[in-house]
Amino acid sequence: MHICVLGAGVIGVTTSYYLLAAGHEVTLIDAQEGAGLGASYGNGAQLSYSYVAPLADPSVWTKWPHYLFSRHSPLTMKPTPDAAQWTWLMQFLKACNAERARQTTVSLLQLAYLSRREMTRLRADPALESLDFQHRIAGKLVMFTEQASFEAARRQVEFQAHHGSRQDVLDADACLGLEPALQSSQRDWAGGVYTADEEVGNCALFCQGLLNALRSKPGFRFRGGAAVTGADMSRGQLNAVRIGRNEKLEADAFVLTMGAGSAGFARQAGFALPVYPLKGYSITLGLAGLNEHAAPRISITDASRKIVYARIGDDLRVAGRVELVGHDKRIPERAIEELKSGTTALFPQAAGRLASAALSPWAGFRPATPTGLPVIGPSPVKRLYLNTGHGGLGWTLACGSASLIARQLSGERPELDMEAYQLAS
Ligand SMILES: Cc1cc2nc3c(=O)[nH]c(=O)nc-3n(C[C@H](O)[C@H](O)[C@H](O)COP(=O)(O)OP(=O)(O)OC[C@H]3O[C@@H](n4cnc5c(N)ncnc54)[C@H](O)[C@@H]3O)c2cc1C
Repeated sequence: MHICVLGAGVIGVTTSYYLLAAGHEVTLIDAQEGAGLGASYGNGAQLSYSYVAPLADPSVWTKWPHYLFSRHSPLTMKPTPDAAQWTWLMQFLKACNAERARQTTVSLLQLAYLSRREMTRLRADPALESLDFQHRIAGKLVMFTEQASFEAARRQVEFQAHHGSRQDVLDADACLGLEPALQSSQRDWAGGVYTADEEVGNCALFCQGLLNALRSKPGFRFRGGAAVTGADMSRGQLNAVRIGRNEKLEADAFVLTMGAGSAGFARQAGFALPVYPLKGYSITLGLAGLNEHAAPRISITDASRKIVYARIGDDLRVAGRVELVGHDKRIPERAIEELKSGTTALFPQAAGRLASAALSPWAGFRPATPTGLPVIGPSPVKRLYLNTGHGGLGWTLACGSASLIARQLSGERPELDMEAYQLAS
């Protein structure tokens, strides 16, 4: 089959890789000139296979006043006239209950473990020998300042232990022993959850490197600078996508991997897709020349501020904030200041590097569904398949999701029961 993959973020390039491996002919299209230049570019770099609990959980109800009024609130909402924002928010709040959160966690864990296995296999592919994306098994430590949140995390660890996670709950001293860079932090820690086998990697390098490797394969074509502007439909079937003003691209099947742009295309194809952009930011500090313990080697999450820290190569990637502000691409100074002040509080010895002009401030849109589960599988439109809505976990879940959709399109039995990931009718 000739399959056209719409969007070359981490989901689109991995989908192309698996489809090619299954013997299909693939055209990958993106509005940008290269791969991984959307949400996949400056993300938190964490392959966190055991930290998948959704944003939509019952604690949202008690944390709402903090989110709305605290100076350090990690969440902002700017009401827009866009009905999609309100519909998404209502569906999100409906999903904030214990039963739904538990079901979502289990489905995400299964997809995450499949993704870890697939990422390991992909890294061992001899055809990808030169793919270097600063991958490392770094371990991950999620730190808590509030006792109540720490206790909730302990219960989550116990729950996930029944579903295959191996995590340790540690008191504050044990955390500081494990990661010496935290010893100079100016926070009063209650404790943390440590997962030894979590990974990090530079998602942008991965996308670019994988695209380069795909380019040399027969049956693959990349169309950069090709904005998809419409859907050419007849009798409930997608026949072609429109590119720019006049061009049409036909294929036997299409996979929608446009991240936060996916809902817009779905509308053009005549159906609603509950994927809304949750904006976040990152900065990247150069660490070369600093002493070994100025910055962490283990990936750190400051749970109350929802800021993550990951060392990739000689850099420290700092990412955070969740904003419901539509597709507004601006990078306000206060968002970057929030990341800088979080970094200074945790790693004062690295704070000198925050003055650098080269912090590469970045904003991206997590393509989020209300429940936190991605949508993988057929769409209501014939010949159009979905692999989108991975929210804050797209890097982590990419390889598993891509392998599932490739199997479905090839008429093979997917490794997981697909019901949880299907678009609700
Ligand atoms: C601040 C932040 C931190 C994050 N940290 C992590 C993390 O640590 N770990 C993790 O697992 N995940 C993380 N994520 C989430 C992760 O980055 C995303 O889930 C993932 O990148 C989504 O990939 P995607 O391919 O679906 O979307 P994208 O990477 O956005 O790719 C979509 C592509 O579609 C293209 N496109 C859109 N519309 C059109 C059109 N009309 N025509 C043609 N092309 C189009 C875009 O140009 C883009 O290249 C983070 C996200 C953010 C914002």
